[in-house]
Amino acid sequence: MIDVEGSTAVAAECSFCLKNGQEVDILIKREDDVHICDECVALCARIVKRARKRTRSWFGISNKSDREGGSDEVAECSFCFTNGQEVEQLIAGQDDVYICDECVAICAGIIKRT
Ligand SMILES: [Zn+2]
Ligand SMILES: [Zn+2]
Repeated sequence: MIDVEGSTAVAAECSFCLKNGQEVDILIKREDDVHICDECVALCARIVKRARKRTRSWFGISNKSDREGGSDEVAECSFCFTNGQEVEQLIAGQDDVYICDECVAICAGIIKRT
């Protein structure tokens, strides 16, 4: 649980599991607000491997209920900005953060080399 007083600190946290960057081994940064930790990459890699279908796999942490009549915005990968409909898999994190299967593979490669 993250309960930091005065949370104005700019400590990076994983956009998928919300773990603080100091709690994880590796935190891969994409944009200022988008990060993914090694654990989440491993988890996403497993999800991608298991579901080779053209379905969206949800990360399973965010329990936001579907907003009825919400926006028609199509989700896109927060790492490469590819439209979710153009990738095989788009895995949802927190607060409209997504990662596609290709970026999962890239991140997995980065972690392997680290
Ligand atoms: Zn994480
Ligand atoms: Zn991507």
